[in-house]
Amino acid sequence: MGDYRLVNTEAGDEYCASVIIVATGSRYRRLNVPGEDDLINASIHFCATCDGPFYKDREVVVVGGGNSGIEESLFLTKFVNKVTVLEFGDQLCASRVLQETAAKNPKIEIRLRHTVREFKGNGRLTSIVVEDLESGNVSELNPAAVFIFIGLDPNTAFLKDPIDIDKMGFIQTNPTFETSGSGVFATGDVRAGSTKEVASAVGEGATVALMVRQYLENSQSGRGSSGT
Ligand SMILES: Cc1cc2nc3c(=O)[nH]c(=O)nc-3n(C[C@H](O)[C@H](O)[C@H](O)COP(=O)(O)OP(=O)(O)OC[C@H]3O[C@@H](n4cnc5c(N)ncnc54)[C@H](O)[C@@H]3O)c2cc1C
Repeated sequence: MGDYRLVNTEAGDEYCASVIIVATGSRYRRLNVPGEDDLINASIHFCATCDGPFYKDREVVVVGGGNSGIEESLFLTKFVNKVTVLEFGDQLCASRVLQETAAKNPKIEIRLRHTVREFKGNGRLTSIVVEDLESGNVSELNPAAVFIFIGLDPNTAFLKDPIDIDKMGFIQTNPTFETSGSGVFATGDVRAGSTKEVASAVGEGATVALMVRQYLENSQSGRGSSGT
């Protein structure tokens, strides 16, 4: 095969390969307020399915009133006694159906124009400092945990060649995980439409290896891309 792709690293090395798999993941957006870094995974979480069950019969705060924030809040009500949703804006941006479902759920309280200014605690969360952006009043809440759903950023800044991405920057793939760049595959959290959970990422990793093998077999036999 004479058809190679090049990868240049920050260290100045250059690699060439018949196939590249991009599996660079993504980053949950953070609030970037004092105390946050120390409590990530202790009392600050980014996945209700993963960590919600630990807070059975407790009170939690969800930051973010988009589709993820409201969907995850509804899910959390299966376990917790109360979910307080803090939304920066003056309205929720979740879908109307989600908003209506949340409004009917007695365990959910929504506070618009509110944001977190600080997390307090030492190993475990003791309180969060919340600002009412309307009045400027600052108060403290004492939830058992905080779930942050203010978006996810894909690790794609390094991509130089144009590869199709969606409006959020996640790499688009066909059903065989190949991107718009021939011989370039993407898998896991960086891929548009992936579920952003570890089990799926591992499964996709195994699947993409099989797809690459098929792609290489097709390339060697002169049939080009693996197709679907
Ligand atoms: C705090 C946190 C808690 C989570 N908890 C759970 C949980 O309980 N259950 C669950 O199912 N999922 C959880 N997840 C999600 C889960 O971790 C991901 O779905 C999974 O790790 C995605 O795998 P991935 O291989 O696609 O990406 P990642 O695991 O993110 O791996 C990407 C790797 O690529 C590296 N990288 C990034 N950019 C570059 C670059 N330019 N060059 C070279 N390397 C690069 C990164 O440093 C990283 O090592 C959690 C995620 C976070 C952030």
